[in-house]
Amino acid sequence: MIAKNMEFLVKNSSAIRAMFEEGKKMAAEVGPENVFDFSLGNPNVPAPEEVGQAVRDLINEGDPVSLHGYMNNAGFEDVRQKVAENLNRRFGTSFAVRNILMTVGAAGGLNVILKALLDPGSEVLVFAPFFGEYRWYVQNHGGVLVTVPAELKKFQLDLESAEKLITEKTRAVILNNPNNPSGVVYSEETIRKLSDLLVRKEREFASSIYLISDEPYRELAYDGVEVPYLTKYYHNAVIGYSWSKSLSLPGERIGYLVLPDELDGAEEIQSAAVTANRILGFVNAPSLIQKVVGNCLDAEVNLAFYDQNRKALCEGLKECGFSFVKPEGAFYLWLKSPVEDEKAFVAAAKKYHILLVPGSSFACPGYVRIAYCVAYEKIQRSMDGFRKLAAEYGLC
Ligand code: PLP
Repeated sequence: MIAKNMEFLVKNSSAIRAMFEEGKKMAAEVGPENVFDFSLGNPNVPAPEEVGQAVRDLINEGDPVSLHGYMNNAGFEDVRQKVAENLNRRFGTSFAVRNILMTVGAAGGLNVILKALLDPGSEVLVFAPFFGEYRWYVQNHGGVLVTVPAELKKFQLDLESAEKLITEKTRAVILNNPNNPSGVVYSEETIRKLSDLLVRKEREFASSIYLISDEPYRELAYDGVEVPYLTKYYHNAVIGYSWSKSLSLPGERIGYLVLPDELDGAEEIQSAAVTANRILGFVNAPSLIQKVVGNCLDAEVNLAFYDQNRKALCEGLKECGFSFVKPEGAFYLWLKSPVEDEKAFVAAAKKYHILLVPGSSFACPGYVRIAYCVAYEKIQRSMDGFRKLAAEYGLC
């Protein structure tokens, strides 16, 4: 017998598995080259050369005992120092070793900071559309997820609704920029307004409201669009970063949290987060890959690859008559379903072997997500199916 509250989660995972199985079945029927699977956010650009080189150098030249051994639960000091210096150079911040905690990806980092901050019943505000896993991360630590409805004009933030939903129990706000699933980058103006709102609400409730910035896509921004660095705008901002997408290392499980000295109760939060990292069973972020990323802080994935896909997809879908939000970051395109029931639209797309994710998975029905981290050739070849799909709905 499994725990009651796992029953729903297991059912949910089997729905995802069912989609995966469906894709495999489709591939067996029509050939994998004819299945256009836009459902997964798995990077398919290889990690930069420097990563492989750093692995080889460390294995060949590093001290194997310390390379593979336990270290401080916060991570290797030299790596944390390099991360702090890199951030200070890029964003004009003044972080030190104590402000950086190496984590098991962004997911690990989010669970660590939520474990450190939430009491039973603490409320965590999220803005739709949002990465569905937040629901479970908040629930993991006894929190209550409060969803701010989507701002449907530009997919920035509906701060009027947020204002009404913040209460004395609001302990944290999670913001994901660039955004999965919308591909939108929240602008500096939006961030300033959000920060003003949170400062106002902290005064009203005499509370601390922590803004957790979930940034696995920070480096994936196009056309020179700036992604504001939140610690510069708000005193209670925590940054959660990962190299899953920026260096195409999702399986390596490596990221970090920035816990600035400006946080209310900074010292306590820094040590609570280190303890959380230990007692959640992570103990520390994987050792070898910590050293690797520490030696590759200036390496970059080939962004041009995603950009080429983004442009081809935008052009093609526009010609078909679809409406969508202009993607500025990450590798997702947020398409308006031509019918209210976007699940019916997702089902219709399958006829053309196009796999999409319904917006309701991200608390925003009426839209679908297209993950364009696929081969360019797949985008080109999928257009015939998209055209037929659009024709079915009278769009072209
Ligand atoms: N946050 C968002 C918005 C994501 O899209 C993802 C992964 O897709 C994560 C967090 C988890 O990232 P990681 O693989 O670094 O744990």
